[in-house]
Amino acid sequence: MSQTASAQIVQRDRDLQPPLYAKRDIALVRGDGAYLWDSDGKQYLDLMSNYGVNILGHNHPAVTDALTRQASTLVSCHQSFANDVRVELLEKLVNIAPAGLNHVFLSNSGTEAVEAALKFAWISSGRTKIVAAKRGYHGRTMGSLAATAEKKYREPFEAELAQATHVSYGNVDELADAVDDQTAAVVLEPIQGEGGVYVPDDDYLQSVREIVTAKGALLILDEVQTGFRTGAYFACQHVGVVPDILATSKGLGNGVPIGATFMSARIAEQLTGGVHGTTFGGNPLACAAALATLTTLDTDNLIDRSAEVGAYLVDQIRGLNHPKIRDVRGKGMMIGVELKMRATPALRGLQERGVLALMAGSLVLRFLPPLILTKEQADVAVQTLAEVLG
Ligand code: PMP
Repeated sequence: MSQTASAQIVQRDRDLQPPLYAKRDIALVRGDGAYLWDSDGKQYLDLMSNYGVNILGHNHPAVTDALTRQASTLVSCHQSFANDVRVELLEKLVNIAPAGLNHVFLSNSGTEAVEAALKFAWISSGRTKIVAAKRGYHGRTMGSLAATAEKKYREPFEAELAQATHVSYGNVDELADAVDDQTAAVVLEPIQGEGGVYVPDDDYLQSVREIVTAKGALLILDEVQTGFRTGAYFACQHVGVVPDILATSKGLGNGVPIGATFMSARIAEQLTGGVHGTTFGGNPLACAAALATLTTLDTDNLIDRSAEVGAYLVDQIRGLNHPKIRDVRGKGMMIGVELKMRATPALRGLQERGVLALMAGSLVLRFLPPLILTKEQADVAVQTLAEVLG
């Protein structure tokens, strides 16, 4: 495709959509493994996997095969009917979830997975207050937005949002003070993603679990971003904490939209017909993609391998000892590089040199690579980062 055509796609995209996203000014048209190509044929090493979605990289043959087969078998099937692929996925999900989370509600996105979690918590607890964390991100539909902290997302809707208190992430005493007998749920990310990639102390979630149980509230862990990419299926499994409800999405379908909200039998029993639902949720096409993704994670031992390459990537970035880097943090393939300056120019510089990354807040470069990233590819990314920082 010609230069003009590429610029045209970027311009038409801008013209036809409301200006909701900070545009990256390239048109991505093809992917393969850890690489993406723009409409001018330029290749990019993908260390963002579409905001954490393509955990197996792009066009993984197992997912492509599953999608192709399912597309020619049955694409949609409302959940009032059972379906073979969906049941197989549900069984697999329950097997990998923390013990006791043996019921699953399927939806189509991260915000829907959290929205359902909050509704279920309200019903189950008979309470409505939410305690969440400063810097926390849980989505932008009206329920999950109440749990999200960022002022610019909340401001136009503030008056209508459910009542939520936002406490300092990692501070047990603040959380204990905020949870009372009106609190339906405490909602936290086990590692904060959008807010800047913050990993709490190992005993934080355990302490939160104890406080929440003592106050008769529920613990919702939002593993929409952490799911599958921190060296465990779910980040809470590193510290042995079992929430009452767990929401996940992003990586589950390797790019095909799907959300999952896990809950205990006790909560499932309290839900009655009609209190929640979705037409597309649990459709066999998305279920087939998710099943192929989870199967590949196991057969290719990707959870363990990605933990190793993720730790290597962190070590290599730390090893730069770069004066413009303040901190490198994360777990597995969820990595934040806090700079001593705004991250936007570095993000642009990486993109110009063929490496795609993300931001998390204004100072943090965020890497959410596909789990298939090799050490050699990690080396290229680190070398490029060093060039960009100068
Ligand atoms: N929760 C967390 C922790 C997330 O990172 C995100 C997306 N960045 C969401 C919820 C919302 O997911 P979605 O964009 O699919 O609605």
